[in-house]
Amino acid sequence: MNRRTFLKKSGLAASLPLWPRDLFAKTAFRRRRPSDADWPSEAAWKQLSDAVDGNMIRVEFPLAACIDAPDGAACKTLGENLRNPYFIGDQPGVTQTLGWIDAWTTKPSVYAVAAKNADQIAAAVNFARENNLRLVVKGGGHSYQGTSNAADSLLIWTRHMDDVTMHDAFIPQGCASTHAAQRAVTLGAGTIWMQAYQAVTTKGGAYVQGGGCTTVGVAGLIQSGGFGSFSKHYGLAAAGLLEAEVVTADGKVRIANACTNPDLFWALKGGGGGTFGAVSKMTLRVRELPEFFGAANFTVKAASDDAFRRLLREFVGFYSEQLFNDHWGEQAHIRPDNALGISMLSHGLTGEEGKKAWQPFLDWIARSPGAYTIEGGPVIASLPARNWWNPEWWKAIGQHVFDSDPRPGAAATNAWWTGDGGQAAWVINGYESHWLPASLLEDGSQEHLANALFEGSRHWQIELHFNKGLAGAPPEEVEAARDTATNPAVLTAFALAIVADGQGAAYPGVRGHEPDVAAGRIAAARIHRCMNELRAVAPNPGAYVSESNFFEQGWQHSYWGGNHARLASVKRKYDPSGLFFVHNGVGSEEWSADGFTKL
Ligand SMILES: Cc1cc2nc3c(=O)[nH]c(=O)nc-3n(C[C@H](O)[C@H](O)[C@H](O)COP(=O)(O)OP(=O)(O)OC[C@H]3O[C@@H](n4cnc5c(N)ncnc54)[C@H](O)[C@@H]3O)c2cc1C
Repeated sequence: MNRRTFLKKSGLAASLPLWPRDLFAKTAFRRRRPSDADWPSEAAWKQLSDAVDGNMIRVEFPLAACIDAPDGAACKTLGENLRNPYFIGDQPGVTQTLGWIDAWTTKPSVYAVAAKNADQIAAAVNFARENNLRLVVKGGGHSYQGTSNAADSLLIWTRHMDDVTMHDAFIPQGCASTHAAQRAVTLGAGTIWMQAYQAVTTKGGAYVQGGGCTTVGVAGLIQSGGFGSFSKHYGLAAAGLLEAEVVTADGKVRIANACTNPDLFWALKGGGGGTFGAVSKMTLRVRELPEFFGAANFTVKAASDDAFRRLLREFVGFYSEQLFNDHWGEQAHIRPDNALGISMLSHGLTGEEGKKAWQPFLDWIARSPGAYTIEGGPVIASLPARNWWNPEWWKAIGQHVFDSDPRPGAAATNAWWTGDGGQAAWVINGYESHWLPASLLEDGSQEHLANALFEGSRHWQIELHFNKGLAGAPPEEVEAARDTATNPAVLTAFALAIVADGQGAAYPGVRGHEPDVAAGRIAAARIHRCMNELRAVAPNPGAYVSESNFFEQGWQHSYWGGNHARLASVKRKYDPSGLFFVHNGVGSEEWSADGFTKL
């Protein structure tokens, strides 16, 4: 029973004015829930619906089908659909990740404004502020931290705001005297990267720096800094932001760019999603596309621990000499079974140039046939960059690299890299990241790094994401990234180490598909021990806000380093009452974990 209902029922309400003033001054500000007597009336919700041209929906929870009838046909169909990130993205009531052991579980909002434009977003922002509601914003729905869902909330859902407009000569508003016109693309806040790549690369023959995963949302990725496979060449996705249209907590539709609201503009470049306002569109730089993108794929299995140590030592030295440049990104996996998995991508190299780069390492392996075997390859090849995000082209050459949306009538371009599919509807056991400084590649440090990789891999698999550290990138891209809110540790890191695990599809209350909490905790503990081995050789640098631990210690420093203080002042300026709240977002310290109660 809430305070007001209690007072009413007990007849004490009439005596309220007689109570000491400071009694309720001490009562924390609390956002309303549907169970509260002062939750907005049906008539009030109808007014909001009218204000947004009817684009307001009562949010269904798709997983209810399985909680209510786990053996039913509807649950079976849902189970199949949950393998499809496009299906998930089309549901306002569920997110790509279903939860995180001991951290969060996806929950639907009560109502969603399925916004079509900035004015409708503004109506939702005003309604939430005026009625003390918990507000949440969802674009692509790919937050690992669960920051785009909240029970008992009003959701701003941007899925349908996916207009894409190419510009030959874009100048940010108010910047005519300072900025030269340049190629750019304006993307509605609900656009996912596949839609951007179709317009800019497949059709336009050019490049925009976005995310690796095709179904990640544009607005969510840019606000978290954002890396794609080729970020070692093009830099941080957020650094490509030229202008944003954003609705701030006061309901104003603002333009943010280098000349207008530059502080807000800077904060939107990596300061974290769902924190400074609700973005309605973003304009990004369009870049030159090289003739080729390429790949190097193979796995080296070592015959013993000792051989694996030597392999890691050799790889670190080889990476430093041959691959530590803007041509090579993506991943190396260091596995507990003494295997080194290479799945790296190249920018601007022919197949021959790619092979030449790898030959010294392959020769070294070949010299010890008893110690190493190569599984699955090596495949080192390049292909026309323009077809990189063209699923039909890949199909035509017989390469199954994309899975497609199987729903009748789905666009052929509704596709995701096969490697990303496992994360649809998963529950995270543990997820940690840590930037590794390029100083670890210096001669005197390579041994330490290799040893730490070996020791860490005794606990869990380590992924080195070379494209998520900007050391080795062109100097102008490093400088552009410096002018974002992302932790400056990214500028001098050669890679982001990620250690992660999940299970699923799983959801509490679904018989036969309950998350295995015990297994999840064991995995999380191992992941933490694994990452501690790397922290020991690289103390302090920080973690990538979007791909990090829900329980990140000292997250303000981890995510933003020395930029946090400036972000906090931008937050106070544009959202003094904390309308926009996300877990471990700037300003979230002032709120309870669920964002309902002011501390
Ligand atoms: C399978 C998978 C692959 C990934 N791959 C990459 C990768 O290659 N590179 C990389 O850098 N990251 C990657 N990520 C992380 C991803 O970039 C972030 O989680 C990103 O924030 C997701 O954005 P979204 O719009 O899809 O998610 P959402 O969950 O919708 O949003 C993420 C956050 O941004 C906020 N937000 C969304 N839209 C708006 C808006 N219009 N205005 C204000 N706030 C908004 C939300 O409130 C939330 O806090 C990946 C994640 C997954 C699940």
